[in-house]
Amino acid sequence: MTDLATQDPAIFSAVRGEVARQNNGIELIASENFVSRAVLQAMGSPLTNKYAEGLPGRRYYGGCDQVDRAEALARERARELFGCDWVNVQPHSGASANAAVYLTLLKPGDTFLGLDLSHGGHLTHGSPVNFSGLLYRAEYYGVERSGPLAGRIDMNRVRDRALVVGPKMISIGASAYSRDFDYAAFRSIADEVGAFLWMDMAHPAGLIAAGELSNPLPHAHVVSTTTHKTLRGPRGGMLLIGNDFENPFGKVARKSGRVRNMSELFDSAVFPGTQGGPLMHVIAAKAVSFLEALDPAFKAYARQVVINARAMADEFLRRGYDVVSGGTDNHMALIDLRSRGITGVVAERALQAAEITVNKNMVPFDDKSPFVTSGIRVGTAAMTTRGFGKSTFREVVRMIDRVLNHVGDESVGREVKGEVLELCRHHPLYDFVTA
Ligand SMILES: *Cc1c(COP(=O)(O)O)cnc(C)c1O
Repeated sequence: MTDLATQDPAIFSAVRGEVARQNNGIELIASENFVSRAVLQAMGSPLTNKYAEGLPGRRYYGGCDQVDRAEALARERARELFGCDWVNVQPHSGASANAAVYLTLLKPGDTFLGLDLSHGGHLTHGSPVNFSGLLYRAEYYGVERSGPLAGRIDMNRVRDRALVVGPKMISIGASAYSRDFDYAAFRSIADEVGAFLWMDMAHPAGLIAAGELSNPLPHAHVVSTTTHKTLRGPRGGMLLIGNDFENPFGKVARKSGRVRNMSELFDSAVFPGTQGGPLMHVIAAKAVSFLEALDPAFKAYARQVVINARAMADEFLRRGYDVVSGGTDNHMALIDLRSRGITGVVAERALQAAEITVNKNMVPFDDKSPFVTSGIRVGTAAMTTRGFGKSTFREVVRMIDRVLNHVGDESVGREVKGEVLELCRHHPLYDFVTA
């Protein structure tokens, strides 16, 4: 990065500092991961210069031959990865992909039913400060407070809610839910009440691609995702149409006076509906990451992510912590700190001082505000990329436990930080622009 270093030392310094931070800390934020150098190179390429509104072969601009090749490959690989017939790889982010879902399936004021935000649902699933809650009527289902399904979704209750609310769409997907979903049950409820079924697999996409979790595509009408969480691609989004969408709803949607199939409707909801020109450098990088995800090595990676998450959750339980739902099926665990007498924000800060990055998170039925919270969310996707195995994750939990048992004790923080640095040295990440 010599040009950047000489031309703009201030920005170079921020980049260098961030690379050093990533190299020298334990990253447990469940939504983050580390991309390969090949993905970084595609993202940093001159493809960023190209305007390519439209789709491959049908662009509004000339000179698109090369970016068409890149986008066609991204689409082909994504279809193979998830076993579906149609994808759109242009959404700039998960939230952009979701905007296209709403625009296609609902009209402003329509009711939809999604997972309660304080039980793990995402901002774009009806938060009052987000377009989804501002333009549409959000109703919620949640997880159980107690009993055998504590911390999990009870499908009987989802059905009861759906029958009462009569939603036009039911959404599945979460930012802080550590269990798999029963897609077939969701679909039968959606069919019973005449609703569209939308799965937002932003978090578990990589685990679904690798077959570690069940695949929503045979059940959901539409699936949205990010590409940068467990899928380990560049920051971005994507839309996929479920396998039998065309049967019940296809060819019946009318717009601009002619019958169009659902894929056309979703395509036009992305562009021109919610976006302008696609980010062709990011789409090329998506293609690179999809090729990586098709490699058997990615299956092994995803397997390890899940094994590590189970070991981590188990170690928290062994040390007397409350793990929401009692464990995990995916890459994350939600730790309820109420029984330990500390809040999420205090835990987050204490761990940050030791270079262990987690995020404070609401737990179901939390009595604290989102700025304080009663829990932390921890994930294994990023550090598994760096080669951490299950015994290392148990070590990490030991370090977390030590810090949380000595909040405010700076010498403990310093000692753990030393251990963190040592662990990171044994699992190198990026070897460029380091401080
Ligand atoms: C992360 C996430 C998103 C949003 O992705 P962005 O790329 O940050 O817009 C959407 N839905 C869910 C469930 C998520 O976890």
